[in-house]
Amino acid sequence: MTPDRWAVLFACAALVAACTAVLAWRRRDRTPAATALAVTMSGVATWSAADALVYGLRTEVTRLAYPPVLLASVGLVVAGTYVLARTVTDPSWRPARRTALLMAVEPLCLVVAGTVPATRDLVMGGLAAAGPDGDAAVVLGPLFLAHTLYSYVLVAVAYTYLVRCFRRVTGVLRRQVAILLGSALLSTVGNVVAVGGQLDGTGTDVTPLFFLLTGLVDCWAIFRGGLLRLVPVARDQVVDTVPDAVLVVDPAGILIDLNPAGERMMRSMRATLSGDLVGRSLQEIAGPNALAVFGATERLDGHRVAEVAPGVWLDVRDSEVADPRGRPLGRIVVVRDVSEQQERQAAVERLNARLAEQVEVIERLRAELAEEAVRDPLTGLHNRRHLDRALAADLASRPRAGELSVLVVDIDHFKSVNDRYGHGAGDTVLTAVAGTLAGAVRAGDTAARLGGEEFVLVLPGLGREQAVDRAEQIRRAVAAGRHALDGDDVRVTVSIGVAVCPADGSVSAALLEAADRALYTAKATGRDRVVAADAVPSPQVVAVPVPAAARDDVAVPVPAAARDDVAELVPGA
Ligand code: GH3
Ligand code: MG
Ligand code: MG
Repeated sequence: MTPDRWAVLFACAALVAACTAVLAWRRRDRTPAATALAVTMSGVATWSAADALVYGLRTEVTRLAYPPVLLASVGLVVAGTYVLARTVTDPSWRPARRTALLMAVEPLCLVVAGTVPATRDLVMGGLAAAGPDGDAAVVLGPLFLAHTLYSYVLVAVAYTYLVRCFRRVTGVLRRQVAILLGSALLSTVGNVVAVGGQLDGTGTDVTPLFFLLTGLVDCWAIFRGGLLRLVPVARDQVVDTVPDAVLVVDPAGILIDLNPAGERMMRSMRATLSGDLVGRSLQEIAGPNALAVFGATERLDGHRVAEVAPGVWLDVRDSEVADPRGRPLGRIVVVRDVSEQQERQAAVERLNARLAEQVEVIERLRAELAEEAVRDPLTGLHNRRHLDRALAADLASRPRAGELSVLVVDIDHFKSVNDRYGHGAGDTVLTAVAGTLAGAVRAGDTAARLGGEEFVLVLPGLGREQAVDRAEQIRRAVAAGRHALDGDDVRVTVSIGVAVCPADGSVSAALLEAADRALYTAKATGRDRVVAADAVPSPQVVAVPVPAAARDDVAVPVPAAARDDVAELVPGA
C-alpha cells in the first residue's frame, strides 16, 4: 500500500475516532463509561491523525513531532481503557486525583523523552518516511519497549477487572461485559501484531485501526439500548442501597451476587460464615435449617414469612429470572427482616386478647349488675321493677285471644312470726316461701317479691282455671312446709288472689288491683285460701266501698283474731 493510501486510511480512522469521541463525550452524563470511551477515542483519533500526517506529509516537522504525539495518544488510549474497565465494573468508581496523576506520569515522561533530542532515540529512532512499498522505517528504542510493557500491564489489569465483572454479573450485563472484553482483546491482539511487526525496524503501526474497531464496538455496546448506563446504575443505586437483602442464585443454587444488605444479613444470621460468599451454595450460606423452614412454609401473595431462628422472622420473595429465550438464568431472592413487625403484631394480638378478656369480664359484671338490679336481695326473686317491666311486656306480646294470669300471694299473719321468733326467723320463712314460689313457675313465668311478705306471679298463657289450680298447688305446698324456728316446728300459710287477663283487666294496674281485691277477700274469708277475682263482687256493687287502704284494713282486725290466727302457726306440728 502506498504512503498516500495509508495516509487516507489513517485520516479516515482519525475522523471516525474523533466523531466517536465527540459522541461519547456528549453522552458523558449518561454513564461514567462514556467519558472513559471519549478519552480512549480521542487518543485513537490523535494516534491515527499522527500516522496520517507522517504518511501523508512526510516532512521533517511531522517526523520530529510524531514520537511525542504518538506517546501522548497511546497514553490516552491506555488510560481510557483502564478507566473504562473500572467504571464498567463499578459505576460508582472515579479515578482518584492520585491515580490520575500517577497514570499521567509515565506518558508525560515518555513525551518529554521523545521530544528532547538527547533522549529521542531512546524512544524511537530512525523514523523515516515510508518507502514506495508504504512501510515506514522505525527503530523502537528501549524506552518505547518499556512503555509498551507498562501499557500492557495496565491493560492487563483492566482486563482482570472486566473478567471478574464478567464472572460476577448475569444476563444482559454479562453479555455487555463480554462484548467489551472481546473488543478490547481485538485491539490488544492488533497492537501485539503491529509492535511485533515493527521490531525489525520497518512496518506500519496499524494499532489505531484496531483501536478504532474496538471503540466503535464499545460505542455500540454502551449506547445501543443504554444498558451500561442503566443496569449498573440501577444496581448501584437501587439494589445496593435497599435495606432488603437481594441475592442472585444460579439454577444450580450457587450464589452469584448479593447486595451489601444481603451480605450483612447472611453474616449476622450465621456468625461462622467467613470468606467470600459469592460462588458458594445458598444451602451452605443460609444453612439447611433456614431453607427447610422456608420449604415448609406456604407462599402467600408471592412471599413466605417464617421464623428461621427464635425471634428472627424473615419475609422472602423469590422470582425466577430467564433470558429473552426463556432459558432459566437463576433466581432473585429478596429477603426482609420482619422480626420487629412480627413482634409488634404479636404484641397487638396479645393486647387484643387481653382486651377481649376484659370486655368479657366487664360484660359479665354488667350482666350481673343488671340482674342484681332487678333481683330482691333477700329472696333472690325478681323485684317490683322487673315485675312491672315483665308484666307489661307479657301483656304486650300476649296473643290476641291469649290469656294471662296474675297471682298475688301474701303470707298470713306473718307479723306474728316476726313478733314471736324475731325478724331473722321471719326472713328465713320469707326465703323459704319464696323458694316454694320459684319452684312453682315455669319458663316464661315471672315470680317477684312485691315487698314485705307479698309476692306476685305472672303466668302467661294460663286461664283462670289453670291459674287457680296452680295457686292451689302453691298454697298447699306452702302449708305443707315446716320451718324450724327457735326449736319450734312452724307452719305458715298463704292467701292468694287470682286475676286473669282479659277477663279481669288487660293492663297491669287493673290486673294487679283485681288480684289484690281477690286476695283481700281471701284474707277476709279466713286466709289460707285461693280466691279468683271473678268470685269477688265488683267494687262498685260492694255495699261498703273498699278504699285503696283496704289492705291495711284487713290487717287491722287481726289483733283480736290474731291469737286464733296464729294458731295456724303450728309449733311442733
Ligand atoms: P295478714 O295475714 O293480714 O297478711 O297479716 P300479716 O301480719 O301477714 O300482715 P301485716 O301487713 O300486718 O304484717 C306484715 C309484716 O311483715 C310486717 C313487717 O314487719 C313484716 N315484714 C315486712 N318485710 C319484712 C322482711 O323483709 N323481713 C321480715 N322478717 N319481716 C318483714
Ligand atoms: Mg300477710
Ligand atoms: Mg302483707
